[in-house]
Parts: sequence; structure tokens; C-alpha cells
Amino acid sequence: MSPLLALALAAAGVAAAAPADPEAAYFAESRERLKALVRLDTSNPPGNEIIAADYLKTELAKDGIASEIFTSSPTRSSLVARLKGSGAMRPIVLMCHTDVVPAAAKDWSQPPFAASEKDGYIYGRGTADIKSMCAVEASLLVWLKRTKTALARDVIFFAEADEETGNRQRHIDWLMKEHAEAVAAEFGVNEGGNTLWSDDGPYEIRIQAAEKEYMDLTLVAHGQAGHASVPRSDNAVTALARAVTRLSMHHFPAQVNAVARGFLETQAKSAKGELKSAIEMALSAKPGPILDMAADRLAGINPEFAAMLRNTVTPTILAAGYKANVIPGEAQATCNARLMPGVRAEDLIAEVKEAIADPSIEVRYDPPTREPVGTMPADTEFYRAVQSAASELAPKARVMPFMAAWTTDSQDLRGRGTIMYGIDPPVTEEDGNRIHGVDERLSAAALDWYARFLREIVLKVAAGPAAASQKAR
Ligand SMILES: [Zn+2]
Repeated sequence: MSPLLALALAAAGVAAAAPADPEAAYFAESRERLKALVRLDTSNPPGNEIIAADYLKTELAKDGIASEIFTSSPTRSSLVARLKGSGAMRPIVLMCHTDVVPAAAKDWSQPPFAASEKDGYIYGRGTADIKSMCAVEASLLVWLKRTKTALARDVIFFAEADEETGNRQRHIDWLMKEHAEAVAAEFGVNEGGNTLWSDDGPYEIRIQAAEKEYMDLTLVAHGQAGHASVPRSDNAVTALARAVTRLSMHHFPAQVNAVARGFLETQAKSAKGELKSAIEMALSAKPGPILDMAADRLAGINPEFAAMLRNTVTPTILAAGYKANVIPGEAQATCNARLMPGVRAEDLIAEVKEAIADPSIEVRYDPPTREPVGTMPADTEFYRAVQSAASELAPKARVMPFMAAWTTDSQDLRGRGTIMYGIDPPVTEEDGNRIHGVDERLSAAALDWYARFLREIVLKVAAGPAAASQKAR
């Protein structure tokens, strides 16, 4: 557009003209917005997500989409935009987070905040986790608006701040307390799943429908401090070592919840040998010794699958003593626990204490700030839409429900009644290992596919007054 024409249009109160081809623009703009977001350094801490929120607000405003920025501290800001539907059905929410983990530029082959392109990849912190999702969701809102797609539901875009710190006073806690209604929805999609990609497209789509909750705990042994030349039976170091050993030998009871069952049943179809046999053993056993054995077997073959079957408590830090000839009065072991969906912290702690079987060991812990959340159902309209979109756009891919051993802020929306699923941009196994690491990247072709996939899901769930009357129950 010439500057003069732009001036004339602005004077006439006309917004920037929409591109002639919204279809091509959707994919081109998803890429451009991803690059623009990567170039805004929102490393957390401190996050400074307001720069991403401001950018997205400006982008949406170009197409006349209003949005609101929610700020909990000077630079901690989330953005929420809403496209109105007919109201025939409850809203859906498209969620993502705008902050990223820090990146040490000296370790990278490409600068982490430049969004450079090389060999079909876009490089940069946040390309895979998860500015790609923000870019696609914002572009999807714009596409829906430009194509005047009739909606039976409101479509909410929620670009969240402060997902990556994992600190105790989270922006999402504040937001859900003060403005939960802004993002309240029947269904939603966020990061937290797994989509595995090879050169000819996605081959496995893991729809995250449950998460294990994160909790740190510390075992503290107390004893009489003294000179090491006079050994004592209440040595804190040996008491702690005993406690850690007992805990590591404890078998938390295994269970196969609906999400883990769906996942393992699908895996069993393509698994071979020992893995197949261990999965089948777990699927056929009732809770009790045989299922526990199956979980142990699985842990030896595929620890990731086994982690879906039980609570885990993993020792990570040991601390005791300061001088070789002095018995310390205290020894500590930090452990990281991952609780199965719906498990209460107090119940896990009671089991830990029982396993340690030494009342002199103190167990300190920080309970999660949110209530336990169970598994998401797989027989919903949204889940079926994901399956159907996957069968159209990735007919060869295995599609399954998935329980993550990690946690996302979907849990906070789930705790308030929104059925949330995790659907991630497709990555190869190697790309997946770069997330939170060095040379994070996303294939541009994978981004295009992801944009297609999310759009198809949203259209199936939210489009059209005609669709609404069929879908309403
Ligand atoms: Zn993330």
C-alpha cells in the first residue's frame, strides 16, 4: 500500500485491508507471528510477557478483534480475546503461554531470539515450547474473522504469562482468582501433549488428557552432632541413607486409569516382544501384586510408560555434613514426587512415612497450590473432533489419549470445570530433545500442519449455527 493510500484510508476510518487470499495469509501469518514472538525475549524469569501481550493485541486489532490484557504485576500480563458465537453452545478456549525458559546464546548454533530459518526449520527459544501455539491460535482467530465463519460457540484465545517459573505465587493463581470468567469454557486446548513427526508427516498424536501433579518433599534426619572418632547409633547420615533406601525400594501401588489404558492399548498394537508382553500384562491385571509386577517390568523396558501407572518419588539432592571428622546433626534428602491424577498430597505423604518406617525422620513438603484434578474423558465432542481431524490430516498416524508425567497450567482450568486437552506442534524425537535445551527449533512444514490441524478441530467443535443444532444435546 502506498503511504498516500494508507493515509487516505486511515482518514476515511478504514482498517488495513484484509488480504485477498485468507487461506494463504493464515499460514504465512502463523509463521510471521511465530518469528515476531520469538524475537520478543520473554525469558522467565523475569518473563516480561507484557511485550508479547502488547504485540498480540496490536496484531488482533488490525483485523478489528478486541482483546483485554490482564496484568498481575508491572510486566506480568496475559492476553484474552474472544470471538463471539451464537451462544448455542458454551465457549471453547485456545490457550498457550508466552514466556519461555532462558537460553544461553553461547551454546546455540543460531541466536536464540532471532528466529532464523535454516534447512526448513525456524530456530529459536519458544518455537516448539510454545510460541508456535500462540502464533497459530492468534492467526486462527484472524482467519475465522476474515472468513466470517459462523460460530455456535465463543472462541476464546488465552495467551498466558508465567507458565515456566514453577514458583509458588503464579500469575495463573491470581488470574483464576480474579478473572476466571474471562477464560471459562466447556472445552479447551493447550500445550502438554505430544505429536511425533517424521519427514512424511505426524506418525503419532498423543492427546494429553491427564497430568501428574508436581510436588517436592524433603526427608530430614536428626541426630546428635559430635566427633567422628566416637560413632553414635543416632547418626543423621546413616538414618537418612536408610530412609532413602527404603523409599526407593517401596512399590507404590500401580493402577491403570482410563487415559493410561487408552494409551497402552494403542501402543500394544504396534509394540513387539518384551514391551508388548509387559503392556498386555499390565492391561489384563487387576490392581494388586500382578499389576505391580507388570509395572515393575514395564519400568525396566520403558520407564516413561511405567510412570503413567503409579505415584513416583525420586530422590534428587542429598545434603549433609561439612567436615570429614564431624558428625552432622542433620541430613537432608530432597525428593521430587509426581502424583497420579486426583491423588491428595497428604495421602502420598502418609504412604512415604509408612515406607520409611522411621518416625524420627521428618518429612517436609510443599503441597500443590491447586486441588487434585482427575483425568479428562475421551468420549467428548472435542476429543472426537480431534480424532476425526487427525484421521483426515494424518490418516496414518496412531492417535491416543495420553497422560503426562509433567504438569501444565491446563490443570488450573480443569480445576474450574473446563475439559482441557494438550495438543502440541509436531516435533521429531530429536527436536523434542531440544525443548528447554539448545537449538530449539520447529519445522516450518510441521507448523503449517499444526495450523491446519487446530483449525480443523476448532471448525468441527465450534463452527456454524447449522452444526450447532445437530450437535446440541
Ligand atoms: Zn510450555
